[in-house]
Amino acid sequence: MPDRAKLLKPADLPENFTRALYKIAPYRGCAHGCRYCDGRAERYYVEGDYERDLEIRGDIPERLAAELPSLRERGMVSFGSGVTDSYQPVERANTITGRCAVLLADSRLALPVQVMTKSSLVLRDLKTWSRVNDRAGFVLLVSLTSLDESLRVAMEPGASSFAERLETLRVFKEAGCVVGVLAMPFLPFISDAPDSIRRLYTACAEAKVDFVMPGGLTLRPGRQKDFYLHALSEYRPKLLEPTLALYAEERPSGMPFAGAGKRLFESVTPIRREFRMPYLMPHRAFARFIPPHDSLRLLFRDMLELYAERGVDTAALHAGAEAYDAWLLGLRRAFRRRRNLPDDWLEERFAEAARDGELDRVLGNERLAVFARRVNLENGRLDYSSLRLEGSV
Ligand code: SF4
Repeated sequence: MPDRAKLLKPADLPENFTRALYKIAPYRGCAHGCRYCDGRAERYYVEGDYERDLEIRGDIPERLAAELPSLRERGMVSFGSGVTDSYQPVERANTITGRCAVLLADSRLALPVQVMTKSSLVLRDLKTWSRVNDRAGFVLLVSLTSLDESLRVAMEPGASSFAERLETLRVFKEAGCVVGVLAMPFLPFISDAPDSIRRLYTACAEAKVDFVMPGGLTLRPGRQKDFYLHALSEYRPKLLEPTLALYAEERPSGMPFAGAGKRLFESVTPIRREFRMPYLMPHRAFARFIPPHDSLRLLFRDMLELYAERGVDTAALHAGAEAYDAWLLGLRRAFRRRRNLPDDWLEERFAEAARDGELDRVLGNERLAVFARRVNLENGRLDYSSLRLEGSV
């Protein structure tokens, strides 16, 4: 049998955006057909018709079943990618994500899972994801930028209605899962007005969403940009000219000119502060299910963002965070080299370093060391709105 690449290939460090150590993408291409989808950009090499020529990775459950018994590292598994949605319509018949859910609910090593989707089809697997949540933690991330259904029909024609997505969030929250909203991309001149953003935050607060991650539209020159502009010319032709002006610099990253990002930030910030809505998955949420050594890494990275946003000098924190990453990476590589170490070696090694002062020396900063001790030894949790360390639940 030919060698296949590993499905569960752990990252060196958990990724900040998804918090994930492992990623699974059951499909490639996406029938949700969002007009702004970044996955159309040439850099992702998705050939053919992005919405119809879907790659269905039918062997994923079998590969997962083969790899799970010998998996050694606890960490978040994230379903989805920039070029697919794990619960797009083909999942109804193929059940690749659904079968993976069952395998993860019963796996030897309890792994937390995160699913990012625009489909209420995820409700089909609620019972299984609840089992995963009870054992290890489950996060549902739903993309939602507006409550205007005509916008959804024009720009996200294959995805669930906005009302269905909100209901999905409510149901998973009631089931005890962490739920977040990816409020991106706010479309320029369409869904980025303060009153529209406020309505969205009101609905999210009513659904008791744990966090809302806002973001603007990037349009990479080429297929993605052309496709969006064509859809816009049919939906709101008058917006074509101002949109072209925003993206006239043709940056390879797809970013609009710098002032546009600042304007969106200025619209969103007072609203999210008013709702006391974190824009990152809160420490209190992820510390429940990410192992402490990775959890501290994610916390430092979040703090760099949170403090910088408030204009605080983060040089000392940055140095401590970098030193911590280097130390953690060294430990992790040692663990991966030595197959005879027990599965919980990293956890044990970290706990020992936190107790005996090694961690203080690694951080090289007394204030940060005291902070880390309160997090690790007293279960302190940073509140992302007040930036105060509070006791754990
Ligand atoms: S759901 Fe996500 S992956 Fe699918 S088309 Fe929309 S933006 Fe792209």
